[in-house]
This record gives sequence, C-alpha cells and structure tokens, in this order.
Amino acid sequence: MNKRDYYEVLGVSKTATDDEIKSAFRKLAKKYHPDLNKEPDAEQKFKEVQEAYAVLSDSNKRKQYDQFGHAAFENGGAGGGFGGFDFSGFDVDLDDILGNMFGSGFGFSSGSRRRNSKMRGDDVLYNMNLTFDEAVFGCEKDIKIDTSVTCEDCHGLGGHGEMTCDVCHGSGTITTEQRTILGSFLSKTTCTNCNGTGKIFKSRCTTCNGRGSIKKNRTITVRIPSGIDTGMRLRVSGKGEAGTNGGAPGDLYLEFNVKGHEFFKRDGDDIYLNVPITITDAVLGCKKDIRTLDSIVTLNIKPGTNTNDKQRIKGKGVKNANTGRTGDMYIIFEVVLPDKLSREQKNLFEKLSDTNLENSEYNKFTKFVSKK
Ligand SMILES: [Zn+2]
Ligand SMILES: [Zn+2]
Repeated sequence: MNKRDYYEVLGVSKTATDDEIKSAFRKLAKKYHPDLNKEPDAEQKFKEVQEAYAVLSDSNKRKQYDQFGHAAFENGGAGGGFGGFDFSGFDVDLDDILGNMFGSGFGFSSGSRRRNSKMRGDDVLYNMNLTFDEAVFGCEKDIKIDTSVTCEDCHGLGGHGEMTCDVCHGSGTITTEQRTILGSFLSKTTCTNCNGTGKIFKSRCTTCNGRGSIKKNRTITVRIPSGIDTGMRLRVSGKGEAGTNGGAPGDLYLEFNVKGHEFFKRDGDDIYLNVPITITDAVLGCKKDIRTLDSIVTLNIKPGTNTNDKQRIKGKGVKNANTGRTGDMYIIFEVVLPDKLSREQKNLFEKLSDTNLENSEYNKFTKFVSKK
C-alpha cells in the first residue's frame, strides 16, 4: 500500500510543533469531514487526516514514525510492539474539536441516543458522628436525609396515559438539514416535544410536575452494627436518590467519625487502658479491679511490675459484627509517684534507702558511669 507521508498529509514540516500540527488538523478536519464535505473522496481524505493526526499528535508514536516510517505501525514492522494501530477512542477528541464549532449537542458520534432508558438513582453520602460507646456496641440512629423519591402518583413516569410522541414518532430524535457557511449537513437533535424519550403522556403528573420524582425530607432509622470505626462506610441499600424512568433508587452510604474515650484507647478491635499503680503496688504486687468495656475484672498485678509493662485480657476488646471476631484488651501499667510525702512516709523511705534496692541494670550503669 502506498501511503502518503503523514507530515505531507497535514501540510506541515517535519519540525512542526504540537500546536502547528493541531491547528493544521483542525483546518483539514473541517474541510474534509463527510458531514460537511460532499465530494466523493472527502471521507477517504478525512480518514487520512485523522490517522496522520493520531500519530503526529502523540509524541511516542511520532518518534516511532520519524524513525521507521509507516512500517512502525504495520504488523511485525521494524518498530515492533505496536501490532497494528488502534484508533479507537479517537472520535472523542474529534467530536470535541468539531463540536466546539457548532456549540454543544452536535453529537457526531452520539447518534440517536435515547433518553428514556431506566436509570438508577445516584448514591448519597451521609457523614455520621458516633460516640465511643455507640461505635463499640452498635446502636440505632434516626437520620434526616433530603433526597428525591419516586413520585407515587405516576410511579416515576412523570405523567398518565402514555403514548408514542407524534413529532418524532417514538425515535426521540429529529433530523434536520442545517445550512452553514461550510455547507449544509444533516443534524440530529433531541426531540423537544418528548425530551428524547419518544413518549408523551395524555396528562402530565401534577404531583411531581412531570419529573417523576419529588424532593422529600425523610427520617429513616438505621441500625449501626457493633465495631464501627472512623472512616468505615456502611451501605443502606435503596435509600439514595430516586431513579429515572422507573429505574431503581441509589444507595445511601454512611461514613463514620467516631469520638475518642477519656480512658479507653482503641486500635481496631483492641482496647488499650493505661492503669496507674503506686510504688508499693508495683514493688509488692496486688490485686486490682479494672473496668473493661462491659464488665469489671480483677487483675493480678505481679510484684516488680514496671511502667509500660503490659497485660492482655483476652476477648475483652470490641465485638466486631462485620468480621465476627472479638478483640482483646491490653492493660498498660504506669508507676506513679506520690504527690506529697508525710513526715512518716519520708522516714520510711529514708530507712528503705539504707537497704539494698539495687538491681542488675542499676549496677551495670553505676559501673559504666564510675569508669574513668
Ligand atoms: Zn418526540
Ligand atoms: Zn408524578
């Protein structure tokens, strides 16, 4: 096949800038577009221009073309890897360029797209704040949402007594011939009598004014399962915006923000609790009542418990309804010093300091410090 050089097709030099290439393409696309140019070879030329532009407007493809010529885009060509050439998706750009000339809605590629198909309603996102307890244990919440709902009087159709539109005969589009400075062409526009649905009603629904849906402020009750955490989303099926032409409603999504707790810290389904203990409890050990999420447990604190020592209480975390698992609770001890000492306490501490209170770590450090 004897193909013309792409630069020649667009009438630009080999060193043309992207803007020069685009501008040359626009000019030629207008000149040869089959809807505008009725010459017998217009379509062939238009395709040639389109193909040249598709290659030269893409820096990678242009590089391949500069190096290998047309062979770059033939199967098994020197360029390899391309395996033919894909022009799909290209019409969008063209539509954009030519559409701008005539204003929107020209629709080279859209054809007679009908607007009476069933369409699902939009989803709605609702941000919900939960307290720590509500999130951990689950709850029931009433929420107010302002969405469109399907009109009950006309079942979402917008009118009563459906018939075929007598202007477009049910196609939803009207074809007209338009004359412009570039010549005459056929143009398809949406039928204004039926709004492109191809159908009209004997009488318009007065409840929804023909829209098929009405805005409504609804209060709905939602059941929040246990184990919700900040950032989680919950789908409430069918509670979004109403669909059109009898389409199903969208969904309602709840997105959560969970407030913190004064004492409990949460990490997923695990709960952390910092527990302060006195010096004597830490040294001698003791039994201590600890509050979990839903009960009181008695902890056995071992003698010699230090700050940051951890103790796990299995199965006392969050019961997650979603995963079916239950987290654990972790107690983190913190040894606290007394705010003030009485004279007697001071005496006792002084007596205590005369005894050996050292441990191996203390001794190791003392040795290190005293080394010259
Ligand atoms: Zn119509
Ligand atoms: Zn209605």
